[in-house]
Amino acid sequence: MSRFERKRTIFRNKDALGESYQPPEIEERDEEIAAYTDALQPVVDGWEPNNIFIYGNTGVGKTAVTEYLLEELQTDIERYDDVDLSVISINCKTLNSSYQVAVRLVNELRPSGSEISSTGYPQQTVFSKLYDELDAIGGTILIVLDEIDSIGDRDELLYELPRARSNGYLETTRVGVIGISNDFKFREQLDPRVQDTLCERELQFPPYDAAELGNILASRADIAIADDAYENGVLELCAALAARDSGSARQALDLLRLAGEIAESTDADSIREDHVEAARSKLEQERVEEGMRELTTHGRLTLLAVISKAAKDETPCRTREIYQEYLDLCESSETDSLAQRSVYNHLSDLRMLGILSAAENRSGSRGNYYSYSLNVPFTSAIEAMADVLYLDREIKVIRDIADMNDIS
Ligand code: ADP
Ligand code: MG
Repeated sequence: MSRFERKRTIFRNKDALGESYQPPEIEERDEEIAAYTDALQPVVDGWEPNNIFIYGNTGVGKTAVTEYLLEELQTDIERYDDVDLSVISINCKTLNSSYQVAVRLVNELRPSGSEISSTGYPQQTVFSKLYDELDAIGGTILIVLDEIDSIGDRDELLYELPRARSNGYLETTRVGVIGISNDFKFREQLDPRVQDTLCERELQFPPYDAAELGNILASRADIAIADDAYENGVLELCAALAARDSGSARQALDLLRLAGEIAESTDADSIREDHVEAARSKLEQERVEEGMRELTTHGRLTLLAVISKAAKDETPCRTREIYQEYLDLCESSETDSLAQRSVYNHLSDLRMLGILSAAENRSGSRGNYYSYSLNVPFTSAIEAMADVLYLDREIKVIRDIADMNDIS
């Protein structure tokens, strides 16, 4: 018997659940597609394109809808000889200034071998190289800047690029910018002049609800999963979990893929609801671990204090009580402790990361106070802490207490 054998019992095309897969159909976005189509209409008519700004949380279809529509646009426009359309798309995730975005665009447009280096030029020089490249192409150019929020406030390019024509930098080319952001706050912090130009047309993509996610999953499962390889209720469960948490199609698809992998690795014939549950807690744990890796030692100790209170079945609990627990942990691990105020700040951070939840209580004359609980399953939290904090003895004690109290 060979070591490697093909399985393929669960998946028909697993790649169709991956990051880079472009779905042949877009579900549930008719309104957004109609508004987007309308915003692109001037391109078809041969006029100056609109600049378009698209925003919404991650996983709500911004990139997928953009790719889908621009492909249709390019096909449909072929029958008009007087419009010559080019599309350039870049993802700005790893680029954190206008300068870097401009360099990347120049290099995208130049033939390989003649790229410019990503440092050493004055910004305006890079911009004019960019205009030269754009003007050499001619016609209409749509520039898609995906995940544009990563450039932060270094947003000069977003001001300059849409104006390059009226400022005389571009003679033959009409440029339209499509900016896509996962973060609505990015729009508000843009220079007001940039807002005016970039956000000529604005489209918001809201989170999906469970029914919408269910339809997106069903059409993807047809492509990705073998016949009868998932039980009734599985897609609905993935949809419900993702809708409750984020409304993200990516999260729903990730759940389904991981559930399928778990089913496959345990030699099940089909994906069951318990596989989805297992996938959910694994993904949740990964998310918590990711959040925890970013924490400082005292952030971690603060979290461990809440975990310890949870093990004793004493959450929700107030800052004062958490602080006491924190001091005990500092003492037993021989770590210098911080003041209560700093621990309070760590609690707020943990809440922002979604690791803790807080309820506001009124206490008459003494004003309001918060009480905190874990916002993730106890087991995920303690497992993740065991990986990042070297407090084996303390963590064992907490686990024992949790066992005694039937916390899991
Ligand atoms: P965003 O760019 O908003 O973060 P994406 O467009 O990358 O989100 O979508 C995340 C995943 O969900 C992708 O795999 C995408 O194909 C899929 N998806 C999102 N919305 C839809 C939809 N309306 N119909 C079909 N698939 C979708
Ligand atoms: Mg995207």
